[in-house]
Parts: sequence; C-alpha cells; structure tokens
Amino acid sequence: MLVGCPREIKNHEYRVGLTPASVREYVAHGHQVIIETGAGEGIGAGDDAYRAAGATIVPDAATVFARADMIVKVKEPQPSEWAQLREGQLLYTYLHLAPDPEQTRGLLASGVTAIAYETVTDERGGLPLLAPMSEVAGRLSIQAGATALQKANGGLGVLLGGVPGVAPGKVVVIGGGVVGLHAALMATGLGAEVTILDRSLPRLRTLDELFRGRVKTLYSTTEALENEIFAADLVIGAVLVPGAAAPKLVTREMLPGMKAGAVMVDVAIDQGGCFETSHATTHSDPTFVVDGVVHYCVANMPGAVPITSATALNNATLHYGLMLADKGLAAVSEDRHLRNGLNIHRGRVTNAAVAAALGYEL
Ligand code: NAD
Repeated sequence: MLVGCPREIKNHEYRVGLTPASVREYVAHGHQVIIETGAGEGIGAGDDAYRAAGATIVPDAATVFARADMIVKVKEPQPSEWAQLREGQLLYTYLHLAPDPEQTRGLLASGVTAIAYETVTDERGGLPLLAPMSEVAGRLSIQAGATALQKANGGLGVLLGGVPGVAPGKVVVIGGGVVGLHAALMATGLGAEVTILDRSLPRLRTLDELFRGRVKTLYSTTEALENEIFAADLVIGAVLVPGAAAPKLVTREMLPGMKAGAVMVDVAIDQGGCFETSHATTHSDPTFVVDGVVHYCVANMPGAVPITSATALNNATLHYGLMLADKGLAAVSEDRHLRNGLNIHRGRVTNAAVAAALGYEL
C-alpha cells in the first residue's frame, strides 16, 4: 500500500502522523511511504531522517492526498484537506466528529473511509489511542501547575516539593483515571502531598494499591471535595464521564474558600471543563484569575511537548496502522477494535455515538 503523511496545518499543531521510526516499520512491512516536505519539523525530524527511514519526500500536501491509498495524520482534516480526500482512500487520524457536523459532512461528501483514533478500543475496554495523550496531559498538568504557582506568574509562591524543614505543597487531583494517575505520579515524584478523589471505588482501590500509602484516596462527595480544595495549593481537574460534558465539580461559590493564589489546572477543559469558572485558553496565554484563584485551561496540552506527544501517539497508532496498511478494509472487518474506530465509510456514518449525536442513521 502507498501510505502518505501530510504536514499538519491546524494552528499550533507541531505533531506529525508518522515519525521516522514508524516509517521504517511500514517500509519493513513492504509498504511505500510518502511524506510532505517539512512534515516532521515540529518534532525536529528533517526530510533526511525520513529518507533514511525509507520514505520518499514529496513537495506538497496535494501530492500526498492525490497519491496515497492511506493517509496518516494527527488532527482532524481541515476544510482544504476534506476537499482532497476521495472514495477508496483510508484516513487514519483523530476526528472528534460528534461535536463537528461540518467536518462530518465534508468527510461524507468525499467518500473516504475514516478511522478515528479516539474510538478505537482495546481488550480491556479502554481507548488505547487516546490514552497516550492523557498520559502526557496528566504529567504536564503538574509542570504547568508548578509554574503557575510561582509568585511572578500570579501564583501563591509555593514550591511543590518543599525543602527540608518546610512542608511540601498540597496537590488535589479530581478524577483518578489516566490523567489523574499520571498527575499523581508527577506530583509525588516532586515530593508534594497528594490526594486523589474519584467516584469509582474499584479505581480508588487500584490507586491505593499502586501508591502504597504515598497518596491519599477519597470518595468524591461535595463535602470531601470542598475540604480538600480549600486546603489545596494546586487542584487538577481530570474527570471524564464518557460521551458527556464534564460535570462542574468546583463551583464559583467555592472559590472564595480557596487560598488566594492557589492554582487550578482544568485538564477536562476539552470536554467543557470541570470547574464552573473555566474557559479554554491557549499555550501563548494559558492562565487567568477568578476570585484570586489562577486557572490554567489549555485545551490541547500535549501540543506543548510535540516530541514526546508525537512519539507516544505513534507508539499507540502503529499497531493498528500496520494492520490497515497490510490488509486494507479487511482489517476493519476482521478486528472488532479497529471496527469500533470506523466512523465514516463511503458516504455513511458508521459509528453509533457519532450518528446519534449528529442525527444520522447508521
Ligand atoms: P479517564 O476515563 O481515564 O478518567 C476519568 C476519571 O474521572 C474516572 O476514573 C472516573 O471515575 C472519574 N470521575 C467521573 N466522574 C467523577 C466525579 N464526579 N468525581 C470524581 N471523579 C469522577 O479519563 P482521562 O483519560 O483521565 O481523561 C480525563 C479528562 O482529560 C478528559 O476530559 C479528557 O478529554 C481530558 N484530556 C484533556 C487533554 C488536554 O489537553 N486538555 C488531554 C488529554 C485528555
């Protein structure tokens, strides 16, 4: 199969669908790979690195879209990209179609067969192509929070790890899933005092076993949440209710009870945010203050660390990508997890949640 990877064109997107290491794997499977010139610049991978991995460099995205049997990307295609997709072509990327009727119409009109990273499943009922970005965002949330806590950045002026003779900072993580676990790992690594709240007792048991007393776990009631955030230096919002907007767990009325200069990082902002006072921000202007509490609400946190993020994403996408390249559409019929990833096929919506959200018939 001829596999193609264009340069990402979404604003401030520095990741790339195929790293040179992935290209080498596709080539080893007998596929040809074409890469748009400069596609890997954001992760420091020049055209020569791709050539060394066995790819052919082409001068523009139009050549990639015109020639490739399968397109591998990171972000959902932009309008100029929909127009270049065609029937019989495979598109393998993040799509997030449910809130995006315009893109859905564009993909339907193109006739393309689109597999969305975010709906591919695994044996454990997880979303393996979404998890790496949650891992990145979870770990980054503590770095972002620690920076915002510095006085010159508008924060309280607390060092999360403390020093000998001075107590460490207190970190409260709301939601102990993938983001929450990785936030807690970083926070404990820095020496902070960490509490995780969750609504799932099985999840709290797992976390309790994992951290062996190094982290306090609490069942998430409003009472417990208030007690914790009122004493917190840094609060991480990491809840997810699958298929729904994030619940507003920290309300505006709670903010005056918090320390002035405390920091709240709302990782769940991509699902609307779990703090009532959150609104999405960008890497160039990441924070704002409400009632003395610093809010960090960047919706695409992994974009800040594209080398780590693109590599982590490729580690997760490569397995299914190779299946698609090796077997074509047959891979989708043979593998139920890949089939769960199929969102659009020849002018029809093929994912139940997307169809329900946008009013299409399956
Ligand atoms: P996850 O499903 O692994 O974990 C979510 C956890 O929240 C679960 O353990 C669940 O039990 C818990 N939860 C649900 N309702 C709760 C409540 N009322 N109180 C306490 N806990 C509750 O999800 P995840 O992969 O960790 O993702 C968390 C959020 O981070 C999602 O909204 C995801 O989209 C977002 N995210 C954002 C970025 C970003 O760049 N901002 C990047 C990756 C993920």
